[in-house]
Amino acid sequence: MDELKPCAYCGESFEITKTIHETYYLSHKPNGICLVSRRQEFFSEEAAIKAVNNRPIEDAQTARIAELEGNLKTITELRDKLLISYMELVNESAQD
Ligand SMILES: [Zn+2]
Repeated sequence: MDELKPCAYCGESFEITKTIHETYYLSHKPNGICLVSRRQEFFSEEAAIKAVNNRPIEDAQTARIAELEGNLKTITELRDKLLISYMELVNESAQD
């Protein structure tokens, strides 16, 4: 089962409580600074977790960041290889 993500706005945690009716009550810890008041009832704990963790924009941004970090690593490796080749050429011409 996935772990509950913290509130996207204030970082405070959510809490899931099982009710006597075998449903799951989702609540946001009040902290005085966040306007999110997520008080919902779900038929399963998984549905409550899915509701909290559903962050399509954040997930897309995380994937994009990983892609860009991969590109940056490739560019850095190419730059280092070019720099080494350049330094070898400079050393060779200095010896001539
Ligand atoms: Zn919040």
